[in-house]
Order: sequence, then structure tokens, then C-alpha cells
Amino acid sequence: MDRQKEFVLRTLEERDIRFVRLWFTDVVGTLKSVAIAPAELEGAFEEGIGFDGSAIEGFSRISEADMVARPDASTFQVLPWADSKGQQYSARMFCDITMPDGTPSWADPRHVLRRQLNKASDLGFSCYVHPEIEFFLVENGEPGAPPVPADDGGYFDQSVHRSAPNFRRHAIDALESMGISVEFSHHETAPGQQEIDLRYADALSMADNVMTFRYVVKEIAMSEGVRATFMPKPFREHAGSAMHTHMSLFEGENNAFHDPDDPLQLSATGKAFIAGVLEHANEISAVTNQWVNSYKRIVHGGEAPTAACWGPSNRSALVRVPMYTPSKASSRRVEIRTPDSACNPYLTFAVLLAAGLRGIEKGYELAPEAEDDVWALTSAERRAMGYRELPTDLDIALREMEKSELVAEALGEHVFNFFLRNKWTEWENYRSQVTPYELDQYLGL
Ligand code: GLU
Ligand code: MG
Ligand code: MG
Repeated sequence: MDRQKEFVLRTLEERDIRFVRLWFTDVVGTLKSVAIAPAELEGAFEEGIGFDGSAIEGFSRISEADMVARPDASTFQVLPWADSKGQQYSARMFCDITMPDGTPSWADPRHVLRRQLNKASDLGFSCYVHPEIEFFLVENGEPGAPPVPADDGGYFDQSVHRSAPNFRRHAIDALESMGISVEFSHHETAPGQQEIDLRYADALSMADNVMTFRYVVKEIAMSEGVRATFMPKPFREHAGSAMHTHMSLFEGENNAFHDPDDPLQLSATGKAFIAGVLEHANEISAVTNQWVNSYKRIVHGGEAPTAACWGPSNRSALVRVPMYTPSKASSRRVEIRTPDSACNPYLTFAVLLAAGLRGIEKGYELAPEAEDDVWALTSAERRAMGYRELPTDLDIALREMEKSELVAEALGEHVFNFFLRNKWTEWENYRSQVTPYELDQYLGL
């Protein structure tokens, strides 16, 4: 048995762990968990734990429902809170999902990302990611009642009444106890809105970290008597919640995006990567912004990008090249501002990487940087400047995705087809609603 597995088994005993929670993620980004007794773990390491994949969103067709969850010992962490009696702790491990014959399941988002990372590695690159995760704290209201922000703070406010500063401290303590380093945290612009930025890690670990983050943040919020939501746009009158995704590619020890002689210290590889993300932005949008509600965030003036353009520190652009620490070679990265906080991080990192690598492989030319406030331009002006509009609703995004050979290849045929089917159903359900807005506007007709 390898050293990591031995370490896990020893820790279970030394810390008297009650349950081991085996985690994985379904295609639409929901965290799934099966708890096993520590005594079962040695067997689980050898043979995995079988489950009925047909009951999980996107996992299998009925005829091939049996699947196996295989815990990845390198992801073992003890959860930061004890059971209800305050005595025993549980632990978690992420799993890879395989078919009964041991081959990877094509439906496993972790596998989708790993395939893309292997592709990057064939080209000589490893990929690092650091997300800035925004979310709202809302009051614990009656089910179905409109959400009420849990505080009245604004951007970078320190003293807001109620829970926010304490909440952030407790959430960060919990995350760090699980090996997830936090770089910054602050109150965001809207009342109740928080942001916590994670220190960079390799893309696969970071996708696992984002899933852990959402779970931990929700639990801590609950323990403080409020509720955390990663819904992309809960309030019409306030900005939504983004998951700005900073990415860099390394060749061995060297940051492939860094060029000391370039005015932006951005290499030709970095520029081609940005060109790839912009060129394919519309096709990948259904993945980076996967819900009907995601497109309520993508509106002019809401601090979210609405067109495919880039700029060094242009906050209305889709890609930004942060200039905070430009002299440090290792930190040269690009910031992609489209994803929202309710995306599936595995699939999102996979399609962003696929788009960027395509730009590098095909040597895409990067358009001139956007200097304008893109939100202030008319759509005719934006067209004239060559900034393509991003999809304005899920329907348009799905139509773009359906035609995309890049997304089909990045997700694999199974996830691609499932995703489209699942999301068309979501769109049709939404489209057939008669909303309070319509009643208000049209009942008098
Ligand atoms: N909340 C904004 C969005 O939804 C981003 C704000 C920021 O620049 O951090 O895109
Ligand atoms: Mg922010
Ligand atoms: Mg940002």
C-alpha cells in the first residue's frame, strides 16, 4: 500500500474518525457524498465503492448504471467540525469514478478535467488556477420568501453590523484547517455580498477546493444563523456573484505567460491563450454560466463582462491581465471574468483550458486591447470595434455550444450530450413560466 493510503488509515485510527465521506461531483456541479465506516476504507482503497450511477445527474444510461467510486488518498482531510455530541470528527476524500471494469467513467467531471490537463501536459504545460469566489449571505427567511441580505456593507467595508467579519474569519479558519489557503477576503459591493480568494493551486486540486469551499461556507453560514448562496444573481438591483478565474501555464519551473521584455510582461504564449479564450467565449458560455439565472448577471454596468474583449486592467473586459505584481515572473497570469459562482469548476476549468490551448496550438492572433468602458458603448459601437456580444440567455448559449467541436471534444461525447439535454429541459421549463413581471405588465390588456 502506498504511503498516502497508510497515512490515511493511521490518521483515522489516531483521531478516532467516525465516518469517512467519499465525495464526488455530478455533471451540473452538485457535491455528492457517501459515508463509510473507517473499517471499510481499506477495502474501498482496493476495490472502490459501488453505486447506482443512474440516480446521479448525468452519470449513466440505465443499461450501464453500475459505477464505482475510488477514493483519492491525496485528497484526505479531516472536516473542521465535530459531530453533534462535539466529540468525534469525520473526514472526506474526493473520488474518481470508474466503470466496474476499472476504466474511468466518461461522466466524471474530475476525469473530464484530468483529460484536458493531460492534453496540456502533452504540450509541455501544467496549469495553475486561483479563483476569486463571490457569494451572498442572506437571512434565514421562510421558504419561498424573497431573499434579504444579511448585512448592509459595501465594497471593502470593515465594520458592518452583524455577522460578516466573524463569518469570514470562521470560514477561513475552517478552510485553512483543511489545507485550503486563502489569499484575500473582503466584503463585496452589494449588501450581504462576500468575496474569498483562494491561493493558487494546480487546476485539479483547485476544482476540488472550490467544491469543498461551497460546502464549508454553507455550513459555517448555517452555524452563524444565516444562509450562504452561490446563486449567480439573487438581486435584480445588485451585482451578481462571479468566480473570476486566474490561470497560468508553467513549463517546468517557468511561467510560460511571463515575458520580461513585453510592456505587459505577457508572453506570446499568454497572448495566444487569451485569444483562444476570447475566440471561443460564446461556445463555452453554457458551461461557465450554466443556469438560466447566470445570464441575469451578464448585463451592462453590473461589473460583469458582456462582450469578448480584453484589457490590462479593464474591469468591463472578459479577460484582464492583473498588474498588481508585474515584476514577479511566477505570478504573471490572466484573469477570466465570465464564470459565475455556481458553475461546475471541473468543467469550467476544462473548457477554459481547452479554449486557451487551442489559441496556443493554432497561433491565434490577439486583437488590440479594449481601452473603452465596454458597458458605455452602444451595441453598434461594440460591433464596429470587433467585440462580440456574449450570449444574453441560456438558449443562445446552448445553441452556440451545440455547434462547438471544441466543447464536444473537451467534455467528451457523453457529458456534452447529457449537458445539452439537461440544460434544454431547464430552458424549456423556464421559458414556459408566466412571471409576476408579465402579470404586472400585461394583465390589463
Ligand atoms: N460581482 C461582479 C460580477 O458579477 C464582479 C465584481 C469584481 O470586479 O470583483 O462580475
Ligand atoms: Mg470581486
Ligand atoms: Mg477580479
